[in-house]
Amino acid sequence: MEGTTLRLMLVFSLVLLCSLLLSFCGYRTQDGSPVTEPGPSQQREEMVESQLKGRGIANELVLEAMRKVPRHLFMPPEVRQYAYIDSPVPIGAEQTISQPYIVALMTQIVDPKPQDRVLEVGTGSGYQAAVLSELVREVFTIEIIPALAQRAGKALSELGYDGVEVRQGDGYQGWPEKSPFDIILITAAPEEIPQPLIDQLAERGRLVVPVGPAGDIQTLTLLTKVKGQITRTSITSVRFVPMTGEAQR
Ligand code: SAM
Repeated sequence: MEGTTLRLMLVFSLVLLCSLLLSFCGYRTQDGSPVTEPGPSQQREEMVESQLKGRGIANELVLEAMRKVPRHLFMPPEVRQYAYIDSPVPIGAEQTISQPYIVALMTQIVDPKPQDRVLEVGTGSGYQAAVLSELVREVFTIEIIPALAQRAGKALSELGYDGVEVRQGDGYQGWPEKSPFDIILITAAPEEIPQPLIDQLAERGRLVVPVGPAGDIQTLTLLTKVKGQITRTSITSVRFVPMTGEAQR
C-alpha cells in the first residue's frame, strides 16, 4: 500500500512538473489548445494580408511573389527575427532591406511581364531582385558595396535564383551591354535621375526611382517611354538611402 501511494505521488509530481514546464515554455493556452510560433510562411501570409492588401497592393502575381520569397533568408542571421515587420531593417554597411510594402509597391508600379528584362540599381540584400525574378525572364542587379554584392549573390544562388545576375559596381552608368531594359528599378535615391539609365530604357519601358535629397523625403517617381518620349509621374513620398558614387559628384 505504501509503495503504491509513493508511486502515485511520484507520477503526479512528474505530471505537475511537466505541465508547469510546458506552460512556462508557452506550448499550451489556458483552454488546453497547443500554441506554436508562426513559421516564416505564415508570417509572410500575415504580411501580405495586413501590410500589402490593406494598402492597395492588388496585383495577384506580385502578392504571390511576396508570399513565396523567403525574405528572412536574405537577411543577416542576427536580424532575421525582424524579417516580416512593417519596416525597413538594417542589413549591415549602413544599408537596409526595404520595407515589404515599398518592395511590393515598386514591383506593382513597374507592372512586370513574364518576358521582361529588368535592371535593378541597389541590390542590397538581393530580396527585391528575387521578388522580381519570380515575375520576369531576367534580372540584372548592381550593388556598389562589395560585401553586400557578395552576400546577395550567395543568397540568390543558394536559393536557386538563377535568373538573377549580380554585378558589383556603381549603377549610375547602368549595364550598357545588357540594355535595353523593359524595367529599371532604382532602390537608392539620386537627386536627379541618371541620364544613362533613362537611355537604357526600352520602348514602352518603365523606370521607378525615389528622387530627392539625401536624408530627406524623396518622391517615388515613375518614368515611362513611349515612342521615345518620356512621361514622368509622381507616385508618393518615400525615404531611401542616397545613391552614392557618381550620382553624388
Ligand atoms: N533592393 C534592396 C533589397 O532588396 O535589399 C534594398 C536596397 S537599399 C535600400 C539601397 C542599396 O543601394 C544599398 O545596398 C546601397 O549600397 C546601394 N547603392 C547606393 N548607391 C548605389 C550605386 N550608385 N550603385 C549601386 N548600388 C548603390
